[in-house]
Amino acid sequence: MLLYRADDVRVAVEEFLLSKCDVRRAEVVGDYRRRVEVIEEISFLVETDDFPSVIAKLERHGGRTPLLSAENDTALFSLSSGILLRIHATTKEDWGVAIIAGTGSKVHWQKLTTITGGLKTLRSNRGYEYIGITDHSQSLKIARGVPAEDLWTQIRFIDTLNERIDGIRILKSAEVDILADGSLDYPEDLLRELDYTVCSIHSRFGLRKTEQTERILRAMDNRYFNILGHATGRLLLKRPGYEFDTARVIEHARQNGCFFEINSSPDRLDLSAENARLAAAAGVKIAVSTDAHSTREFGLIRCGVDQARRAGLEKTSVLNCLPWQTLAPFFRR
Ligand SMILES: [Zn+2]
Repeated sequence: MLLYRADDVRVAVEEFLLSKCDVRRAEVVGDYRRRVEVIEEISFLVETDDFPSVIAKLERHGGRTPLLSAENDTALFSLSSGILLRIHATTKEDWGVAIIAGTGSKVHWQKLTTITGGLKTLRSNRGYEYIGITDHSQSLKIARGVPAEDLWTQIRFIDTLNERIDGIRILKSAEVDILADGSLDYPEDLLRELDYTVCSIHSRFGLRKTEQTERILRAMDNRYFNILGHATGRLLLKRPGYEFDTARVIEHARQNGCFFEINSSPDRLDLSAENARLAAAAGVKIAVSTDAHSTREFGLIRCGVDQARRAGLEKTSVLNCLPWQTLAPFFRR
C-alpha cells in the first residue's frame, strides 16, 4: 500500500486503539513512522496492562479482523484494506526504548549489535573503560541538536545498553550550548540525569571581553556545568577565539568544581598548551577529548595527548585518566 493511503489506516487504527481498546498510549512505529514509500505492515506500539483484551477488541474491529499470530507482547492482524497490522505491547518504563526498537528497521537494529561490537573493540584495542556520548543540544539546529524529548529517549536507551554490555560503560552526556545570557540549553531535570556535561559556546563570539567572561562565569554557576568545551572557540588557520578573561574563568572553575577540555580536533586543539598549563597549575583538571563525530575520528585523541604533553600535564591532571568510580564524584557538585 502506498504510504499516502496508509495515512488513513493509521488514523483509523490509532483512534480505535485509544477510544475502544483502553490503551494508555498508542503510537505508530516501523516503516510507517520512517515514512517508507510503500507500506506492507503498519505497526503500533501500545501501553497497556491487558494485552489479551486489546487483541480481542481488535479482532472485532470493522466487523472482523483476522488474527494471524499472537505472542506475549505482539500480535499480527490482516486488515481488510490489504495490509498487515502489527501491535506491540509495552510498559511505561520501556516505552522510549520500545519506540526506538520498533522504529528502526531490522537493518538498523542489527546495527545495534555493531555498536556493542564496536564498544568492545574500544575496550580491547584502546583500553577504554568508558566512553561519553555528547550530542549537541537543542538550540544548535545546524549541528542537528537533540531536542530534550529525544535526549530523554537516548538516556533510557543508554541505560539499556549498559545493562547488556560488559567491560565498557557508556556515559550519558551532551554538549550543552551556553546561551547568550549564560544559561544552559536544557532544563535542570534533564541535566540532572546526565553523568556529566560538556558546556560550550557556539554563538555570539563578538561579545565584549567582559560580557563574554560574565557569560561563562554565569554558566559555571549552574551546578550541572562540568566541563567547558573548546574554551576559546578558536579554529586554527581560520579564526581566532573569542575573548574572555582567562585568569578569572580558571579561578571560577577552580572554586566551582568545573573543568576544562583539550579538544583533540586538529583544527581546534583548544585549550592551547599555554592555557592548559595555567589551568593545571591552578589545580583544575582537564579532560582530553576527541570531539569525534564518527568512529573514524577516535584516533584524533593522539593530537590532544600531544597537546597535553606540550602543556606538561601529568596523568593526575587529566580527568579521563581516572577510573569511572573515582571520576564520577568530580561531576557531582
Ligand atoms: Zn562544540
